[in-house]
Amino acid sequence: MAKEKHVYLFGDKKAEGRANMKNLLGGKGANLAEMNLIGIPVPPGFTITTEVSTAYNAKGREKTLSMIKKEVEEAVHAVEEMMGTKFGSNENPCLMSVRSGARASMPGMMDTILNLGLNDAAVEGLTKRTGNDRFAWDSYRRFIQMYGDVVMGLKPASKEDSDPFEEIIEVLKEEKTIENDTDLSTDDLKELVKRFKKAVKDNTGKDFPEDPWEQLWGSIISVFDSWNNERAVYYRKLNNIPHEWGTAVNVQAMVFGNMGESSATGVAFTRDAGTGENIFNGEYLINAQGEDVVAGIRTPQQITKEGSLRWAKLANVSEEDRASKFPSLEETMPEVYKELFDTQNKLENHYRDMQDLEFTIQDGKLWLLQTRNGKRTGAAMVKIAIDMLEEGLIDKKTAVMRVEPNKLDELLHPVFDKKAIKDAKDIAKGLPASPGAATGQIVFFADEAEEWKNQGKEVILVRIETSPEDLKGMTAANGILTARGGMTSHAAVVARGMGKCCVSGAGSVKINYKTRSLKVDGLELKEGDWMSLDGSTGYVYADKIKTIEPEMSGNFGELMDLTNQFAKMAVRTNADTPHDSELARNFGAKGIGLCRTEHMFFEGDRIKAMREMILSKNEVGRRKALDKILPMQRKDFEGIFEAMQDLPVTVRLLDPPLHEFVPHEEENQQEMADDMGVSVEEIKKTVEDLSEFNPMLGHRGCRLGNTYPEITEMQARAIIEAALNLKKRGITAIPEIMIPLTGTPEEMKMQEEIVRSTVEAVFAEYNDRVDYLVGTMIEVPRAALVADKIAESAEFFSFGTNDMTQMTYGYSRDDAGKFLPIYLDKNILKNDPFQVLDQEGVGQLMKLGVKLGRKAKKGLKVGICGEHGGEPSSVEFCNSLKFNYVSCSPFRVPIARLAAAQAEIKRKEAKKAKKEAKKAAKKNKKK
Ligand code: PEP
Ligand code: MG
Repeated sequence: MAKEKHVYLFGDKKAEGRANMKNLLGGKGANLAEMNLIGIPVPPGFTITTEVSTAYNAKGREKTLSMIKKEVEEAVHAVEEMMGTKFGSNENPCLMSVRSGARASMPGMMDTILNLGLNDAAVEGLTKRTGNDRFAWDSYRRFIQMYGDVVMGLKPASKEDSDPFEEIIEVLKEEKTIENDTDLSTDDLKELVKRFKKAVKDNTGKDFPEDPWEQLWGSIISVFDSWNNERAVYYRKLNNIPHEWGTAVNVQAMVFGNMGESSATGVAFTRDAGTGENIFNGEYLINAQGEDVVAGIRTPQQITKEGSLRWAKLANVSEEDRASKFPSLEETMPEVYKELFDTQNKLENHYRDMQDLEFTIQDGKLWLLQTRNGKRTGAAMVKIAIDMLEEGLIDKKTAVMRVEPNKLDELLHPVFDKKAIKDAKDIAKGLPASPGAATGQIVFFADEAEEWKNQGKEVILVRIETSPEDLKGMTAANGILTARGGMTSHAAVVARGMGKCCVSGAGSVKINYKTRSLKVDGLELKEGDWMSLDGSTGYVYADKIKTIEPEMSGNFGELMDLTNQFAKMAVRTNADTPHDSELARNFGAKGIGLCRTEHMFFEGDRIKAMREMILSKNEVGRRKALDKILPMQRKDFEGIFEAMQDLPVTVRLLDPPLHEFVPHEEENQQEMADDMGVSVEEIKKTVEDLSEFNPMLGHRGCRLGNTYPEITEMQARAIIEAALNLKKRGITAIPEIMIPLTGTPEEMKMQEEIVRSTVEAVFAEYNDRVDYLVGTMIEVPRAALVADKIAESAEFFSFGTNDMTQMTYGYSRDDAGKFLPIYLDKNILKNDPFQVLDQEGVGQLMKLGVKLGRKAKKGLKVGICGEHGGEPSSVEFCNSLKFNYVSCSPFRVPIARLAAAQAEIKRKEAKKAKKEAKKAAKKNKKK
């Protein structure tokens, strides 16, 4: 048996891995290999596979290290050879970086170690090689700081405490009366190394390791450990990344962006990640190392001159200041810039997607440290897909597959009301890091952002800068404001990934965490004060500003048109007002899949008539009350049918238990008694009579219509009269009458007969007819089991997966919130089944229901109208069962349309692949 390979080498334009090995090498490792293969300069190194990480989680440190030891040693020697350096050498030391790299990018969530290999001897070697002792000692102290924190665990004691290493630096600076880190002399740095090592020893009881191999093993294990740190686990949950994947570890020769004025480090995007504009952009810092750009500690400069001019305008920086203090890379290092520009072009053309790159310039030489498909806002995602299609870089199918359906949600989010924003006075301006509008109350700490959000408040998270620890707070906040950091700062990148509004680097905002307040130009704002952010302009307002619905952009429309070329299922909407119907129709809904009539019983005088019916002792009384409701219902239906003319409208008959229509509070009961002219005791008695232990399993759905047929009669009449009235006006209504909560064929048959006889009576009265259907919801598990029999009386099925999930799991829709979060936390459930369809359980019932239904009635129309109808993975499942349509709330219609197109593309491709595999197997057999 071939020996298992755990380590993949790359360097000198050769590599053992390649781009399509992401599962094994992680995104970063696979792309580092690929960059070598296409001739891009990458520091040599090697990738330890994700399988090792999984093995480590199962077997622990010692077994894992012994499994990879030999391969890692060989790989290190190969890197030494390529670089002409030696691990631990006091002449020419080999220094390494150790970084994580999962299959899916998890920016900043796991740990990194830089400058590994430095010790008391190697620091001398680095001095000799570079002729720069300050640089060598600065690198050494940075290494101890990073390793001491990540591997040895010397961290701030609490969120209000500062970093122990930074404290030591501050003390030394005070002793020396120095302001900036850059003013520390080589001797000062040597002193820091001493004090750092002592702090490590005092706090951990262990010596700082001098042996580079020990450093390396410690770092590799720490990166594996960081897969399970709290923020990484949280990020995975947020982004649905499986915990089983594990991370690869990339060990790579160090190149230095901090070796002086001809060195630099930066981050770049081949297109604008916020807007999608096809413009190369990014930030860099001269004489800086690795994380300095993203950490937001120094304000970075723009890479291109155009970007720099745009930035200066936004940041109110004069051209004189810009050119002298913040020039672009294009201006400071034109030749390297040209090489970088050509490289980004090459990468984008190679990957055919927007790339996010990290690079370092060491002494005038360009090195690429990473490339990956860049995270982007929903708007950028759509624009880039459509632009690349038009540029001929990708085909239509790829363009449709490029957009994550849920990301479209961002494009449908509110923007500031134009008038309100005109009247508002801005208090500060930062960088427009992630577009959108946000209003909320100020909070300064991530955990509080989460707490406040849970209390139902809207919050804006305000930080000097953010770090991966703030992720939860960023998720909870409507928007994020930072005082420091550029367009590629942590806050900016993460917010764009989340599609959340962010203003970064608003330098005039002075934040004081201790007093939980901020000051800007003499104005003081405290925790809890209102603030608004415009992520598209960078303006900050000390007000609560009104927001409005967004307009659809041209690219969005083009994408939606493309979905029609691929999707097989139609997308309908759940709507019960003309306004919602119109909204959904504008989003491309092809009809109404669920019009819940009960909502119409609450408004104005209707509730009175409804209560009158409930109080009635007999059918005569009920009919009298229903007669009052009839004209109102008919008018409602006319409005909805008109908004949806020429498209089918599924109207569901009354579903909720009657107790939902009577008041439960004493004072409201008195009011009802006065209204109805009866005693409050009588009201109380009725409420008591209607109360049920399990109302969701009680007297509701078709059980109402079968016990009080007059309700079904009134509703069927209202629907058909509305359609006939519209017909007189030349408007075509296509009603589909839907019976809720059917569980037995008899229930359905009885309802069908009531509906049909009523409809025939109305036709006779009007001396006219319209086409209509009678069908049922399939939401009681039993209905799925006897679907063939039910289909005899039904012309269509619509799966009500809300109730079906409730009844299949036995989880109450209304109370499951008490334990579902715990179940999700403990991994008992992977998803909330009320949001993401449980294909394994509920899905089996659906499968059976469709099969039996269509067996009994060929071509039976089938849809879904539970919440799952707008959730992409559930839409894909419905497509696999050959549903005719999915139905969801108006704002999810575009999401469902895209998901339906993607589902069909995937289905066809899987079918093709299966066919080809079969053909290949046949061919092999012949041989
Ligand atoms: C359902 O049960 O899935 C459904 C759509 O009906 P409701 O949510 O109104 O019970
Ligand atoms: Mg239901």
